[in-house]
Amino acid sequence: MSLTDSPVLALTGLTKSFGDNHVLRGIDFSVSRGEVIALIGPSGSGKTTVLRCLNGLEVPDGGTAVFASGLTLDFAANPSKRDLLALRDSSSMVFQHFNLFPHKTVLENVIEGPVQVQKRSVVDATADAERLLERVGLADKRDSYPFELSGGQQQRVGIVRALALKPDLLLFDEPTSALDPELVGEVLGVIRELANDGWTMVIVTHELAFARQVASEVVFMDGGVVVERGAPEQILVTPREERTKQFLRRIL
Ligand code: ADP
Repeated sequence: MSLTDSPVLALTGLTKSFGDNHVLRGIDFSVSRGEVIALIGPSGSGKTTVLRCLNGLEVPDGGTAVFASGLTLDFAANPSKRDLLALRDSSSMVFQHFNLFPHKTVLENVIEGPVQVQKRSVVDATADAERLLERVGLADKRDSYPFELSGGQQQRVGIVRALALKPDLLLFDEPTSALDPELVGEVLGVIRELANDGWTMVIVTHELAFARQVASEVVFMDGGVVVERGAPEQILVTPREERTKQFLRRIL
C-alpha cells in the first residue's frame, strides 16, 4: 500500500440535525494520507458542519468514524468522552474569522494549544512556533498582537497555530473568505506550500480556481449529502450530476 492509500479518517453515514433541520443526511467521507480535499457546494449545504464534526466541535447524531489507528466511534451509541477527545485531537481547524485570542501575542497564540492542551514544555513549543512563523514570513511579528496585523497576517498565524498542534489532518473553513481581495493570494500561497509538503487537508472553499490547482479530490455537497466526488477536472469541468452543473453555472 502506498503512503497516500492509508486513510487518516473515514466517516460513514454521518447524520446531524439541529432541531427539525436535518443538516447532514448521511455523509460518507474518507480522507487518505497526503490527500487534499476541496469541499464545495452552495451556502447552507452542510460543509462547515462536516468540518466541525470532523474536529469534534459538533457531535454527529449517527454514523461512524474510523481512524488510521483502528479506533472506531459509533455516534449513535454515545461514544465515550475519551473517544471524542481522540477525534478532536486528530485534526486542527483554521477558521474563517481567524479566532485568535486578541489579548495574547502571536507567539502566545501559537503555543497556547501545545502547552495547555498537549502539555509540551514552553521551551519546545516556542522553538517550534518560531520555526513555523519563520516559514510563513512572520518571524518579526512574534510579539505583536492580532489587532496590529493585517487580515492575511492574522490568517497566517491561524495556520501556524493549527500546524503547531502537529495534527494528522488540517481543516480549513473558508480560510480566505473574510479577507480583502488583495490579501487572499498570500494565504492561498501558504496553503499551496502545505499541500506540496504532503499535509493531509480538507478545505471548504469558494475559490474554485485554487481548488482545481491544489486539490487531489473535489467533493461537491448539496442538501446535506455528497452529490459527487472525483478529480478536480472531472467535478469542475465535466461534472456528471445536474445539481453540480447548476451550482457551477451559478458561480462561474
Ligand atoms: P455551509 O457551510 O455549507 O454554508 P453549514 O454547515 O454552515 O453550511 O450550515 C448548514 C445548515 O445548518 C444551515 O441551515 C445552518 O443554519 C444550520 N446550522 C449550522 N450550525 C448550526 C447550529 N449550531 N445551530 C443551528 N443550526 C445550525
